[in-house]
Amino acid sequence: MLSKPFDGFMACEKDPREAHTILFGAPFDSTTSFRPGTRFGSAAIRQESYGLETYSPYQDKDLEDTAVCDLGDLELCFGDPARALDAIQDQADAILAEGKRPFLIGGEHLVTLGAFRAAVRKYPDLHVIHFDAHADLREDYLGTPLSHACVLRRCWELVGDGRIFQFGIRSGTREEFRWAQDHVTTHKFDLDGLETALTAIGDKPVYFTVDLDVLDPSVFPGTGTPEPEGVSFSALRQAVTLVCSRANVVACDVNELSPHYDPTGVSTAVACKVIREMLLALPPR
Ligand code: MN
Ligand code: MN
Repeated sequence: MLSKPFDGFMACEKDPREAHTILFGAPFDSTTSFRPGTRFGSAAIRQESYGLETYSPYQDKDLEDTAVCDLGDLELCFGDPARALDAIQDQADAILAEGKRPFLIGGEHLVTLGAFRAAVRKYPDLHVIHFDAHADLREDYLGTPLSHACVLRRCWELVGDGRIFQFGIRSGTREEFRWAQDHVTTHKFDLDGLETALTAIGDKPVYFTVDLDVLDPSVFPGTGTPEPEGVSFSALRQAVTLVCSRANVVACDVNELSPHYDPTGVSTAVACKVIREMLLALPPR
């Protein structure tokens, strides 16, 4: 019998009806403020995932035994961020309606807003855990509210004060940092304070968004707006494992890999390993 080889993220080929977590890609980078290229992120991650083992010695778990399905990339309208976000929201809505967990792969960070809108509609008391070098809290960027530099501000508009917990933040305007003090919880420079935040959030539903530029550019140069003095891979791996295993993560994403800025391919391997560890730590829903 003829059959098509699986070309999704390694081992994420379970029947979508049986999967608890559903991967999908949003190859979109039209609002990128500096160096574009994240539209190639999700495809590069799928392809390079075969360089990594499905087994994690950190967690003693194997993706082969994990109920995850990869639906592939959405076909998005590059010139129209609002339409692209609608398409991402529709896909996340459909996954949430089946009682499953959407796991979005970017793309630039703006793609989060599409999946976030779907998640907050289903879970009005949604909280956010945000790893990033950048605050992403601008009211607008060069006049547009739909930019990756504004994405957490757009999320805040949907949930209000006290719901967003940021970590690793080391770049933003003075206004962003001042605004943050009154509206969100910002942990600057590293991932310290995560335990306290997880305790405060308890079993409330969480949207977990990982902008990979939270990593130091020496670990992860393949990104559009590299920001020196980031966290180590080990710190990020332990932190994502903690969030995914302990918080009630109802939706999540990994974004901002721009693979062509790192011709060694190491940044893509880093992204793959972060995703593998997250998928293994997320419990069945
Ligand atoms: Mn970001
Ligand atoms: Mn960033």
